[in-house]
Formats: sequence, structure tokens, C-alpha cells
Amino acid sequence: MSDIIQLLPDHVANQIAAGEVVQRPASVVKELLENAIDAGATTIKLIIKDAGKTLIQVIDDGKGMSTTDARLSFERHATSKIRTADDLFQLHTKGFRGEALASIAAIAHVELKTKQEQDDVGNTIVIEGSNVVSQEVVVTPKGTSIAVKNLFFNIPARRNFLKSNTVELRHIIDEFHRVALAHPNLSFAMYNNGSETFNLPISNYRQRIVNIFGTKTNEKLVPVDEDTEVLKISGFVGKPEYAKKTRGEQYFFVNDRFIKSAYLNHAIASAFDGLLKNGTHPSYFLNLKVDPQTIDINIHPTKTEIKFDDEHTLYALLRSAVKHSLGQFNIAPVLDFERDSNLDTPYSYNNTQTSTPTIEVDRSFNPFQEEKQRGKQTTAFKPTPNNWDSLYVGLESKGTKTQQDFSEVHFESEESTGSLFSEDKQIDNIQTTYQLHNKYIVSTIKSGMLVIDQHRAHQRILYEDFLKNMTIKEAVSQQLLFPLQLHFSVQDIEIINQLKEDLEHTGFIFSSVNKESVEIIGVPVSVPESEVSIILEQLISDVEHEVPDTHFSATDLLAKSMAKSLAIKTGQSLQKDEQEHLVNRLFACKEPNVSPTNRTTFVTMSVDELDKKFI
Ligand code: ADP
Ligand code: MG
Repeated sequence: MSDIIQLLPDHVANQIAAGEVVQRPASVVKELLENAIDAGATTIKLIIKDAGKTLIQVIDDGKGMSTTDARLSFERHATSKIRTADDLFQLHTKGFRGEALASIAAIAHVELKTKQEQDDVGNTIVIEGSNVVSQEVVVTPKGTSIAVKNLFFNIPARRNFLKSNTVELRHIIDEFHRVALAHPNLSFAMYNNGSETFNLPISNYRQRIVNIFGTKTNEKLVPVDEDTEVLKISGFVGKPEYAKKTRGEQYFFVNDRFIKSAYLNHAIASAFDGLLKNGTHPSYFLNLKVDPQTIDINIHPTKTEIKFDDEHTLYALLRSAVKHSLGQFNIAPVLDFERDSNLDTPYSYNNTQTSTPTIEVDRSFNPFQEEKQRGKQTTAFKPTPNNWDSLYVGLESKGTKTQQDFSEVHFESEESTGSLFSEDKQIDNIQTTYQLHNKYIVSTIKSGMLVIDQHRAHQRILYEDFLKNMTIKEAVSQQLLFPLQLHFSVQDIEIINQLKEDLEHTGFIFSSVNKESVEIIGVPVSVPESEVSIILEQLISDVEHEVPDTHFSATDLLAKSMAKSLAIKTGQSLQKDEQEHLVNRLFACKEPNVSPTNRTTFVTMSVDELDKKFI
């Protein structure tokens, strides 16, 4: 048989390599910014159009390239940064693999302009899909400009695979933040579709963080500083009370390189042990300086993972440095968070309920169109629909026995003790509900018993309300006595802007949306003023997690998020009528069986099943 192995042509090899290096526009941003830093630039500009799908351009004032280097830079494994394999363990540059420019040029239209300081003129090269289209002399300032246009133009599958502009832009901003945070000693600017999104002058580290995440961040930061023989740690952690529901603001830099490390993240999380509300994550901006010989960066093409020689020591040092800072700044002792309530500790609620607001759910009921036509009060509950009524039908005939079995389960409700074995009362009051452990609402139905998860059920009710309001674009607002001023980071404001219209359809009224703050003068009737900032924060965090691609899903996400924030919580005790209203409203929903996030809202247990348990 003849030989069948062939060497791949360069442009094919480059395209394959590009798949590893360039996953999305943000990957190009990272590579270009890093090249600018390696070139010794002090001012770096990033220009983006259409979330990088049309244009990604980085302009720097670094050392530029000679005519030959300019051409060579697009060859695979062409690098000025290392010469031998040993150099891999002495790295002081971001790049070293010499494949970024080759990869990018293989899958986009690239235009390079570059000039070295001592030269009068520079060079411009145009490359499209690895083919050099032109190379000319050009008048250009000192430094380098690389414009990457029409990314993935020759790989339609990859181009189609890209997410919405919102998503891709968020990835780009993330990369920009990472690089800018690692280098407060350089000035950065970012322009998106012609307008300036970030302007970050040279500053100290704290100021850089504040310039990115908003002025309010300043008061949240606790400095961390530890200098040992093995490593130097500097930076900040966020005060525990500002911990977020997302892991968004967690930055580790090792020798000025952004690194992902679940292990070291754990070290920090454990330093916060006992200080955080359940489900929240601390912010941190930490720089580790280690001897380059003790790490290996070359374990992943995107260089965001790293191997440390002595991970255990690092873990211990990091943990104690953070702990020390939290203690030193008196963070630890003054905190006394209410622990998250759950069923494991059902009897502790008596003590923890003091701060729980009384249920406001019922007033939240936004009138459905039909009800208005029928002239109902806004607070009225919908009559139970057929299917729900039918659950009760026939209870009279069979109910006595059912109820007796049922009553033997211990419920924490006066009603249950009062009505124990009182047959008449049960027949009259067939919709009796009991609240179990301030978490479940138990009721009787024709075939046995019904157990409803109060938090999930209420989420379902609110979700359908909000969705309806947003769809019919008609919501009832309550005017605030004083405008509410809330501060956010620039990118959070971006998210609020995207959702503003939908938020307005739920009843929010914004008097202004500025660069880092919003002013609110009206809120949905169901939303207590004190909850507004929590709701918006939750919403932003949800959007970051589950980025909506279409307008429909943005509306849906907003309804889900607000429902989650406003739903009565597990641990909240409900009055009798509140329990009944909740049950009735749940079964008036279109999809009462599941919460907006598809979790079961109620279960039933038939008398037969119960009987089996008593055999
Ligand atoms: P690497 O960064 O791993 O060396 P790249 O493909 O990113 O590989 O870049 C190839 C080479 O091109 C670099 O080693 C550097 O010499 C040169 N280069 C790239 N970008 C710039 C820039 N902005 N300014 C000066 N030189 C650059
Ligand atoms: Mg590079």
C-alpha cells in the first residue's frame, strides 16, 4: 500500500491552531492586549465594533516592529520572546508560543501598522486568511496598531456559533478588565461602537479597581499584603457584607497574568469561613508574585491555567494572609449574619424571624386584564379554577378517614391541634391549610394530602404575574416619596440599560440612568422600596449567569429573577389566610406544577400511599 501520511499545509495547520487560541472575539482581544504589553506600551487603546464580530483593534505606543519582523510575526511559532525551552521557566512576558498572530490571521482579515521609534516610516501589512494581500511603507506613529476584521469569515460554522452581541461583548469586557487590573501602571481605554466605555489612566491598584467597578467599590475593599520568601501577596478582598451572588469579581493574578484556579479560590473562600451569607461569594483582587521557575504556564493554550510547584504552601499562605487582613481590619468579629434558613434547623426560626418582613405578597397581586373588566379589587385573588376545585370534590364522603390519618402527622399549627378528630369542622372547612416548618403548606385533597413548597409556589405565582405585565405592558407603579439613588459598576449599568424597557413594564420608573448610578422614582406595587437594590443586584447577577440571547428570554429572565427575589422565603411564617391565598393563586396559574426554574412546587400523597405506611 502506498504511503498516506502528508504534512498539513501551513494555512490548514494555522486554522487548526486558531481553534485552540481563538474561541471568540474576546480571545483576540486578550492576545492583542498582551502583545501590546509585551511590547512595552504605556498607552493601549481597544476599539470594538459589533462585539468584535466586525472589528477588534488594538493600538499601542510600544516598541513596534521592523519591516522583517512585521512580516515574520504572522508565521507560526514566530516569537521574539523565547529562544530555548529553558526560557519557558524564566518567563517575563505574556506571550511566548508565537502562535497568536498566525492563528488570528488564518481566520480573519488583519491589518497591521507598525513603526519603531528610530524609523521615519513604518510598515503596513494586510493579511486575509493567512494570505498576504499587501505590504507597504506607511506613515504611522511609533507603536503598533492591529485591526482584526470579520473574524471567522472563512469558517462559517464558527461564526454562526458566536453568541449574541451582548454575550460576546461581555466576554470582551471581562478580558479587558483582567488585563487592565493586572497593569494599573499602564493606561487603557476601550471604545465600543464609537463611544468610550472605559478610560483608565495610570493609577494605583485601588484606584484602578474603582475606575473599573465604580466609586462605591472603594469602601468595600480590605487590603491584603503579605511578603514571604516563597511569594508576595498584594491586593484587596471585598468586605464580607458586600459578597455577591455571583463569582464575578474574583481575580487572581500570578506574575501579572490572570489565572483561574479552583484550588486557590478555595483557599480564599475558606478564609471567609463563617463570614458569608450562604450562596454568596467574596470579591477579591489578588496579585501573587512568585519565582517564574516555580510555575509552569505552558499547560494550556490560553495560558489561564498554571501549575505550581508547591500548591499546598501557596494555599496555606493565601488563606492565612486573607484571614489576617479580615481580622486586622476588624471585619470578622463584628459580623453576625443570619444563617440561611433551611429545613435542617427547623426549630431555630423562632429566633431568626425578627427581621423577616411580614408577607407582602397579597398586595403584590397585579390585576389581570379580565379581572379589571369585571371590576374586581386589585387585591382580590382569582377564584380557584376547575382543576383545583376538583381536587377537593368528594372529600366529604371519604374525608373523615383521610383527615384522621392525616392529623396524626404532627403539624405546628393551632388549627391542626384544635381540629384534631373534630370531624364536623373538617368537613365544613375543607380548605384547611397547615404550615409545616415554615416551609411547606399542607392541605387535604380528595385523594389524600397535598404538600406545597411555599417559596417555589410563590415564585410561580409572581413569575406569571410579571410575565403577564411585561407582555401586556401594563403595570401598576407606586411613586416613591424620595427618588432612590443606586450605584452600580459601568457594566452593571449596561445590563440595566438593556433591561430598562422591560423593567418599566413591570412598574419601575427611572428618572435617570447615568454612568455609574440610576435614579428610581417609581417601583412596582409589589416591590418594597427596601428590596429594590437587592432585586436589581439579583437580576444583574442572573443575567450574568444565564445570558439571554433573545428579547423573549430577557423578559423571561427578568420575570424569573424578580419572582425569585420577591417570593416569600422558606422560614417565613404565614397567616392562615395567606396560606390559603397562596394555594388558590398557585392553582390559578397556568403551570402550577413547577416553579419558573422547573422545580416541583407541590407533591400529593394519596390515602392509599399513607395506608401503606401504616401497615
Ligand atoms: P507571542 O506573543 O507568543 O510571541 P504572537 O503571535 O502573539 O506570539 O506575536 C508574534 C511576535 O510578534 C511577538 O513575539 C512580537 O515580537 C511581535 N509582536 C506582536 N504584537 C506586537 C506589538 N503590538 N508590538 C510589537 N511587537 C509585536
Ligand atoms: Mg502574543
